[in-house]
Amino acid sequence: MKKKFKIAILPGDGIGPEVIKETYKIIHVLNQYFNLNIQTKEYDIGGIGIKNHGTGLPNETLIGCKKSDAILLGSVGGPQWNHLPLDQQPERSGLLNLRKKFNFFCNLRPAKLYRELQDLSPLRKEIISNGFNILCIRELTGGIYFGLPKGIKKNGKEKYAFDTEIYHEFEIKRIAHIAFQIAQKKRLKITSVDKSNVLESSILWRNTVKKISKKYPDVSVSHLYVDNAAMQIIKNPCQFDIILTSNLFGDILSDECAMITGSIGMLPSASFNEKKFGMYEPAGGSAPDIQNKNIANPIAQILSLSMLIEYSLKKPEISKFINTSIKNVLKKGYKTLDITNNKKKYVTTEEMGNLITEFLIKEYEKNEKNLISKNI
Ligand code: NAD
Repeated sequence: MKKKFKIAILPGDGIGPEVIKETYKIIHVLNQYFNLNIQTKEYDIGGIGIKNHGTGLPNETLIGCKKSDAILLGSVGGPQWNHLPLDQQPERSGLLNLRKKFNFFCNLRPAKLYRELQDLSPLRKEIISNGFNILCIRELTGGIYFGLPKGIKKNGKEKYAFDTEIYHEFEIKRIAHIAFQIAQKKRLKITSVDKSNVLESSILWRNTVKKISKKYPDVSVSHLYVDNAAMQIIKNPCQFDIILTSNLFGDILSDECAMITGSIGMLPSASFNEKKFGMYEPAGGSAPDIQNKNIANPIAQILSLSMLIEYSLKKPEISKFINTSIKNVLKKGYKTLDITNNKKKYVTTEEMGNLITEFLIKEYEKNEKNLISKNI
């Protein structure tokens, strides 16, 4: 009997449902050809949650997620909910609430530049001619975004504002362990980024990462100050494998890494909690400007599914097949509107989903004997 694996699917708003639709095609192929037994159930989140249940995170959704083995999310939000108070808007009441409920403290954001998409990068060709593949691992629930005290006060006539950057050793340790374990499996090197020449919290960050690194002698680790890291990413992105960093620095550096790949429509992400329960979603938002036009790029969503297969299903070899299929589709010159310079010749969201599905079946057929002998 194949092990049953339950995914809670939360399409959300905007292009979310359109790109999620394309992942079902992939899931169907995985079940049919790759010996998996993935069962899916859809739940509302964000704006559609507000519309159907009066809240961005309906109870039914929360219970469904808790009963599942992983969450695959589309995106939430849109201008039709902008009039609501901030805490009732889809992002806060839906997505941020869900992240908080599950305590997703670890965020993975891969930024890969495909050779076929080099022209989209704002970096010069000679810098990126070999492509790059950076995995940003960002601490997501600590640091200055949540540290207390914070506030705006008055001193006489003059206002002043303050935030607190605070890290506990356990917060640094748990994310460092995840980074080292990923590095170990993939033979990657880690660059830990901090500002330990100025900040006490960064001194603790660096010392703790150094301490944890002793438990993983086979992983190479180096340390960079965040200002230098920001420069190095532009100067020579190929030098990085994993960037491990705090909430604030990760927020900025992961966007910098995303930018130099050229398109947000290609970038997936994953978030984990202490039990390694994971939620997977595209790095971009609900893109209301292109909603219902069949032009959204479904690759970020399909790559999010691929990360789910790798990290939650623990089937990296199958995830590789999905990634190879995407690469092969791009190699053949098929591109959605956001990743082509020829605005007259592009494939639609649905066509891109179909192409990746076809190429995935081809990958299966090419490797069938091998897959059967390895019982995959
Ligand atoms: P956005 O990421 O939705 O869009 C920015 C630009 O990127 C737009 O031009 C859009 O068309 C394009 N884009 C994004 N994804 C694409 C894809 N898959 N294919 C092709 N083009 C794509 O950011 P925004 O415009 O600032 O936000 C729109 C809404 O999404 C807002 O309500 C925002 O709050 C919300 N949002 C949600 C999430 C999330 O659900 N995780 C993240 C960011 C923003």
